[in-house]
Order: sequence, then structure tokens, then C-alpha cells
Amino acid sequence: MAKQKNDVCSFCGREMPAMFSGKNNTWICYECIEGGHNLIMEQLQAAHEALGIEEEYETAAEPSNTKNNTTIQPLDLQSLPRPKAIKEFLDSYVIGQDDAKKYLSVAVYNHYKRILQQQNIKKDKKQSDDIEIEKSNIILVGSTGTGKTLMARTIAKLLKVPFAMVDATVLTEAGYVGEDVESLLVRLLQEANYDVSLAERGVVFIDEIDKIARKSDNPSITRDVSGEGVQQGLLKLLEGSIVNVPPQGGRKHPEQEFIKVNTQHILFICGGAFDGIERKIAQRLNTQVVGFEASVKTQHVDKENLLQYIAPQDLKSFGLIPEIVGRLPILTYLKPLDRKALRSILTEPKNAITKQYEKLLSMDGVTLHFSDEALDYIVDKAIEYKLGARGLRSLTETVMMNLMYDIPSTNIKEVIITKEYAEEQLLKTDTLRLQSGI
Ligand code: ADP
Repeated sequence: MAKQKNDVCSFCGREMPAMFSGKNNTWICYECIEGGHNLIMEQLQAAHEALGIEEEYETAAEPSNTKNNTTIQPLDLQSLPRPKAIKEFLDSYVIGQDDAKKYLSVAVYNHYKRILQQQNIKKDKKQSDDIEIEKSNIILVGSTGTGKTLMARTIAKLLKVPFAMVDATVLTEAGYVGEDVESLLVRLLQEANYDVSLAERGVVFIDEIDKIARKSDNPSITRDVSGEGVQQGLLKLLEGSIVNVPPQGGRKHPEQEFIKVNTQHILFICGGAFDGIERKIAQRLNTQVVGFEASVKTQHVDKENLLQYIAPQDLKSFGLIPEIVGRLPILTYLKPLDRKALRSILTEPKNAITKQYEKLLSMDGVTLHFSDEALDYIVDKAIEYKLGARGLRSLTETVMMNLMYDIPSTNIKEVIITKEYAEEQLLKTDTLRLQSGI
């Protein structure tokens, strides 16, 4: 295994710090080993899937982001994950939210079919049949901490495309203090390691889109710096255009070289809490039911969950301009998380917080177990402090902090987190700090 100076990997030709030697003075570096391992595992998995054998193969450390994964493959329909497969993938990371998952899965599948269609037309002009599949940008409506960002991020992980997230509240109309809308493409480019073609197939998540709503329903003659102006700026990106992006971000300077990014194939997913939109939905439902159909329609309205009836006109009444609403044709909602969902979030997702701690301690040779009562207690506290799903992490971190500090220096091989222990640890902590830590 010892590496000799000036030896290069016989596979990739690079001089690497850790290599294995083979016969006849051949060497293989750790990256090529990892790459080969992943390839074989993927092929094995594909072969077993074809035979209907369900088995999961671990590939070596999944890339934490897609920065190094810059090889862009032409799309083909066979390799596109089907909506069902997309939903199943989402299921392993996101608890509940079945409606949103279905909408998202279909939208993503159609989005990539659309890219495929255009790819085929480019190759063979005869394939053009005038039916143009329109872009399916998505808008997710749901309270904060219900999984909007998680869902968008998980989709990007599945598609192995760059993912950038931006908060709409930091965006301002060009020329004002704040970030230009183009800045979100700068982030995408950075994620794609400045590979423009890769960025052009990425996913952008625009959070808090509701915060740039027009303050009143009437278009104002005075300029609305943080609202309508930004919506107009975003419109250009959402509908697909070639945008000049300053490579390092920041303001545009005339002397700066721009990178041209075509946003036509970028999938935009917007998210927002739209606090109070239920009132607009109720108003609309009420006005709709005036008339002879009233009695029929009102029977079916579930007043507890009005969000499920959300329609594009509610977004307009809330203050999104009609053009933006038109460019976000896939509209779906996320339900508030109940106690059962919060409890599942603690243990079930692939990267659930408790699983992460079990993994961390297993690396010290320690088996960790959370008692059911301890988990129920953490959920109770998240509800009591109104911390939602985000609070589960900060609460679990607080419970685990002292243990994580002490255990590696002891010979303890097994740890069980009981309710009493969790209680003791949380009591030592200032609840205000917990609330501000999320
Ligand atoms: P939002 O974007 O809706 O405000 P996030 O997606 O950022 O919320 O969720 C915050 C955190 O809460 C996530 O990192 C995740 O750990 C957890 N979370 C929220 N909703 C879910 C869910 N439905 N399933 C699993 N985890 C969730």
C-alpha cells in the first residue's frame, strides 16, 4: 500500500496521496477504487432490480453535493425515474405530504420529458410535431417547517442535478439595495462548479415567495421595491430566458464578463407559508357556493383543512401577480405536521436525526438506543414550545450534547436514552435558547 514518490494512479494518471499497488508496478488511487466500487454496486442493483430482487446496495459515501458530479449525460426516457419511483424516493426522506409528493413527482417527470422532447427535436428536426410541452414550475404552499425545502432538496438529490436555494425576501429589483434576482443563478452555477450546461438543468428553490406579494390587490403607481418589482424580475427567469449572470455574484458592472445562462430547462420550485390564505380560500368557496348549487358544494368542504382547496386565484388574491401565478402551473399544498408525523420524523426518514446519532456513536463502537418514552417526550416538547419539525433536531441535539462529549473517552459500549435522561438534559437548557436555535 505504501505509496512511492512520483507514482501516479494507473487508471486516472493522477498523483494521489493514497494508493494500492498491483503487479508490475501498477497503482490504483482511492478515488478510482471508490468509483469502481460504486459502478459495480449500481450494476448489481440494476441487475437485481431487473430480476425483482429487492436489496439495497450501499455505494461509497454519497456525494454531499453535486459539485463533483459534473458529467452531463444526455437524457433518455428509459433512465428517467417514473413518477412512482420519484414518490417512493421522496417517501424515504419526507414523512406524509402524499398529495404534494404526487404532484411533485409528476411535475418533475414531465419536466424532464420536456427536456427530452427538445433534445430529440434538436437532433432530428422531423420529430417536431408542434405540440410543445410547457414548463412545469411548481409552487408549494404550507406552513414553515412542513418539509417544502426538504422535498425540493430531495428531488435534486434523486436527479443528481445542482440545487440552489434562495430566500425571496433578500431579492430586490435591479438597482436597489439587496440581491438582484440573477443572484440565484450565481448560486446554481457555484453548485454546478461553473458547468453552465449542468446548471441549466438544475433545480432552484425559491423560499418565502409569499413575502414578495403585492401589499394591496390594486397595482400601485408608486414603485413597490420589495414586492411587485421582484416578481417582475423573477418572471423573466421562470418563463425561460437567457440571462446574463455576473460570475462572482454581486452587482453587475459593465466591465465584468457575464456568463449566459438559459433558464428554459431549470426547474423552479417556489415555496411559501402564505399565512392567512385560508381566508381567501374560504371567501372564494363561499362566493362560489352562492347560487343553486350551494347546498351540494358546501357539504364537501372540510373547514379544518382549507389549504387542500387552494387554487391559482387565491395566490392572486394574496398578491402574486397573475403572470407569476401563470408561470407556476403546478400548485400543491403541505399539511401541518401532527404529533404522529413528528414522531415518525424522529426515526423513520433515511437520514432521521436519531439514525444520525446512532451512526455517529457506532463509529466509537457504541450502540445507541432511544426508548419510546424518550422519543415521545422530545415530540411533546417540540409541540409545547411550538418548534415543529425543525425543533426536533435542536431538542435531540440538546439531549445528546453531554453524552457526545463524554462517551468517546469511556469504555461504555451501550447507551439507552430514557425519558428521565432526556428530561434532565432539557431542564438544564434555557428554553429560550432552544427556541432561538432553530
Ligand atoms: P419548510 O421549507 O417547509 O419551512 P423544511 O423542509 O426546511 O421546512 O423543514 C425543516 C426541517 O424539518 C427539515 O430539515 C426536516 O428535518 C424536518 N421536516 C419537516 N417536514 C418534514 C417531513 N414532512 N418529513 C421529514 N422531515 C421533515
